[in-house]
Amino acid sequence: MSYTSFSQIRADLSSGKTSVSGLVKEYLSAIDSNRELNAFLEVYPDEAVALAAEVDLKLAAGTAGRLAGMVIGLKDNICFAGHGVGASSKILGGFNSLFSATAVERLVAEDAIIIGRLNCDEFAMGSSNENSAFGPVLNPIDTSRVPGGSSGGSAAAVAARLCHAALGSDTGGSIRQPASFTGTVGLKPTYGRISRHGLIAYGSSFDQIGPITHSVEDAALLLEIMAGPDEFDSTAIQNPPEHYSALEPTTKPVRIAYLAECLESEGLDPEIRDFCNRQIEQLRSLGHTVEPVEFKELKYLVPTYYVLTTAEASSNLSRFDGMRYGYRSAEGKGVEGTIVKSRSEGFGKEVKRRIMLGTFVLSAGYYDAYYSKGQKMRRIIKEKTAGYLSSYDFIYTPTTPGVAFPLGKKSGDPIKMYLEDIFTVQANITGMPAISLPMGTNSEGLPFGIQLMANLNEDAKLLAFSRYLTEQVK
Ligand code: GLN
Repeated sequence: MSYTSFSQIRADLSSGKTSVSGLVKEYLSAIDSNRELNAFLEVYPDEAVALAAEVDLKLAAGTAGRLAGMVIGLKDNICFAGHGVGASSKILGGFNSLFSATAVERLVAEDAIIIGRLNCDEFAMGSSNENSAFGPVLNPIDTSRVPGGSSGGSAAAVAARLCHAALGSDTGGSIRQPASFTGTVGLKPTYGRISRHGLIAYGSSFDQIGPITHSVEDAALLLEIMAGPDEFDSTAIQNPPEHYSALEPTTKPVRIAYLAECLESEGLDPEIRDFCNRQIEQLRSLGHTVEPVEFKELKYLVPTYYVLTTAEASSNLSRFDGMRYGYRSAEGKGVEGTIVKSRSEGFGKEVKRRIMLGTFVLSAGYYDAYYSKGQKMRRIIKEKTAGYLSSYDFIYTPTTPGVAFPLGKKSGDPIKMYLEDIFTVQANITGMPAISLPMGTNSEGLPFGIQLMANLNEDAKLLAFSRYLTEQVK
């Protein structure tokens, strides 16, 4: 199946060239023949087939929703009522969602079909999908390489066409980095644009659900449907969402800032650097203003992110105690012993590392030195970024310092792995919307993306320019 946008699917559905049942069967057989990618943790074949038949009837009767024919996979940290959810962790083994995430409810209400749940890094902590309790996901473009993380299963499934689109979550880059590694589009909306109700929390003041798709057009449509206020999430933005799906590509010249420190940074793959420099020149020749700005705080982005998110994670993950959800160790003695054993056996190494780090930075003796310093740094980064975005429309960077790396290459060195996030965490620290757009492949045929970030609540402007860049400049 080679659909790159949902509008093509809708056209084929209305001309009778395909049916939703036919599409679902094709996806199911693609899932079957790509088992080795390990993208899906669970597939819902019977349910999807039954639902497809219903949606076909609705289409024939003219009563179908806007997403009739859209087959979607969910990252395993997003709840879907009556289905297993586990954040790819042993500690949630056997747990079923009691309700659906608001985002999922809104998709299903428009007749989208959820085909299964997708592997990810445990509790969304990682940049390679190697931290899953259920084994790594392989990158469909080169199976000796990682698909990125933590939404690795989501990106791999979309890239390998095992579903049309997928939902991921992005706390520090987990939608955008895997999108960059698999040649797909990954959108992290403004913080609060999509309700977090039903998303298993990692760093609550950073987390955001978003789509991974083949086209900006589809990302805009999915955002429009999922976004909006929600009584179950007080941090959800109150204003109704804009009509992102009706946006036309930008036609006027825009002002773009690029972070000089990013493009000069040593760790940046020279091929990606050359591409960015060429693209900057091209954008200038098309009449846009593209200027370097300094961002000396670049080196503080990753430390700020890791101090603050581990603090939030240590608190969020305290609810997994072997008493209320999923896994309980049979070895523990008494309540405390059972909690200790269940947590020791149920969480993987990286999650434990972060719980300990987060507990440490919040502890009475170190709070001022780490957590409160991290908060101050967050404010400085926010103010500086907002300053640039008051005089420029977008901030342009590569999405990642390099292309997809071989499995095992960074898993032994957490610092190396954390540096994967250097360009992506700024959007989460500031809450600003950011997107990774596929820009082609390097000399080895491996994809990479560029990232655009806009000011708070400028998701529409970001999507319109993203359409321009992916559809009209090349
Ligand atoms: N790679 C980052 C981390 O390990 C980002 C994760 C995410 O966005 N969920 O925390």
